Amino acid sequence: MTGASGIRQMTPAEFADASREHSEWIARYFEHVREFPVVPQIEPGELLSRLPRSAPETGEPIESIFADFRSAVFPALTLWNHPRFFAYFSVSSTPPSILADLLAAAVNVNAMLWKSAPAATELEQLTLSWLRQWLHLNESFFGIIYDTASIGVMQAIGAAREFIDPECRLKGTRPGLIVYVSEQTHSSSEKAAITLGFGQENVRKIPVDSRFRMRPDLLRQAIDADRASGKRPCCIVASVGSTSTTAIDPVPEIADIAEQYGVWLHVDAAYGGSAAVVPEMRRVLDGAERAHSLILNPHKWLYVSIDCSVLYTRFPEVFRRASALGAEYLRTPEDDRVVNYNDYGVQLGRRFRALKLWYVFRYYGREGVIALLREALRLAQMLKSLIEADGNFELCAPVPFSLVCFRHRSSDKANQQLLAEINASGRAFLSHTILYGRFVLRFAIGNFQTTEEDVRETWELIRQIANRVALDEQPATTAIR
Ligand code: PLP
Repeated sequence: MTGASGIRQMTPAEFADASREHSEWIARYFEHVREFPVVPQIEPGELLSRLPRSAPETGEPIESIFADFRSAVFPALTLWNHPRFFAYFSVSSTPPSILADLLAAAVNVNAMLWKSAPAATELEQLTLSWLRQWLHLNESFFGIIYDTASIGVMQAIGAAREFIDPECRLKGTRPGLIVYVSEQTHSSSEKAAITLGFGQENVRKIPVDSRFRMRPDLLRQAIDADRASGKRPCCIVASVGSTSTTAIDPVPEIADIAEQYGVWLHVDAAYGGSAAVVPEMRRVLDGAERAHSLILNPHKWLYVSIDCSVLYTRFPEVFRRASALGAEYLRTPEDDRVVNYNDYGVQLGRRFRALKLWYVFRYYGREGVIALLREALRLAQMLKSLIEADGNFELCAPVPFSLVCFRHRSSDKANQQLLAEINASGRAFLSHTILYGRFVLRFAIGNFQTTEEDVRETWELIRQIANRVALDEQPATTAIR
């Protein structure tokens, strides 16, 4: 079709054909996913060198663009939505989430205001209240969707600053405001403190215990020392499922300290929070009801495509004070009766992310979500037992969720080679961390298509490669602890 401007436009019929072809490809991808390498064997710059350096002058048929996606782009992707993606945190883009994202792109609403997107705003309120109920958080928790937990924690620390020093909005960040994290807290909290102008020197990294949990006694000491030297403790970030090992900080004791000193408590449950939907796992959020803010990422472990991060707070008005400006061109007659989500953060333009929550929550229901989470938890316990039963390997951290940290009882070099060879095989993708100064492999389970066979076969692959790698090794070094 040629539009008024003389530019080719896809007709609705052409769009229907093209989208059918795209969705058939997606369906085949799901069906044959295990035939594709999880990690591509590709050198940096290789794809760039194969693609034109300048954009086309004239438009191209959708068929050739799609053909190039299949032949050039797809083979150069690390497949996050693959049942043997066990690196970082294993995530899922489930079919209902994909369909919702397609619709969201079609209607292309901007959920900055209720007026600009009434249904997007109200579905955000609705889905976040459903999730709040699933998590057994009380009604005082107000929910907001941000793109990522990194942005969410920046908003939370910004709210903490407003809470501790209400003049900061006018006068700017004053020196001496302190943020407390643990040595194991995800780097996004420190990044947020740097971005907000706290100064990296004002981020205290509290040591952890033998299970990688923040030590409340040392937190208290740090706060006392800061107060004694005239600093102003501002925000404590406690983790429920820290990144390296999924450790759960002792949130109730940390909440006691936060309350005693009047400090904002933020709970980073970006990964672990989802598990609390499972009734027998609800205890992982014990104490979180006393937090000022809490984040969990449906795009990590709640079967929703990237990106979608949820922040709950008992102090939405503090977030508003920290961010809202009420520009004239954004005022609407309904303002005093509605939620305008842009008031709760720096972002004005907001994608319609609630739609994929609504699709996923309705498609699986609470029972379906619980069953998926339970299976990932079960597979992690199974893998833990396999590792414990194998004298050549050692477990390196407790397994409270679906991440298993382990290493071969040999040198760091051998473990690095083991990881490199697993990933080069294309048959699985694992990542690593450093614990007690030693190189440790991380095996994260959570993709909606991962089966027991995927985990068992990957474990066999690891053992086979380890046998070969270890042959080059001199006497096994001592265990990690
Ligand atoms: N918090 C934890 C515990 C994480 O593991 C991560 C990422 O893995 C983040 C925060 C940051 O998440 P995002 O990628 O949504 O910014």
